[in-house]
Amino acid sequence: MKKLACKLCKILVTGDTCPLCKGAQFVPNWKGRIIVLNHKESRVADKMGLEADGEFAIKVV
Ligand SMILES: [Zn+2]
Repeated sequence: MKKLACKLCKILVTGDTCPLCKGAQFVPNWKGRIIVLNHKESRVADKMGLEADGEFAIKVV
């Protein structure tokens, strides 16, 4: 099953609600993937404004 990306947080999820914003607005079309293990020390996470650990889409369409 393909993962969906949260429209707001860009986190990739397989469930019905986003674990971060508790929203349910998902986009099936996303590009690229980044896995953040330690968002506080990750420069990429900082650059992208990611405030949690997890798997994120780099770009949502
Ligand atoms: Zn979200």
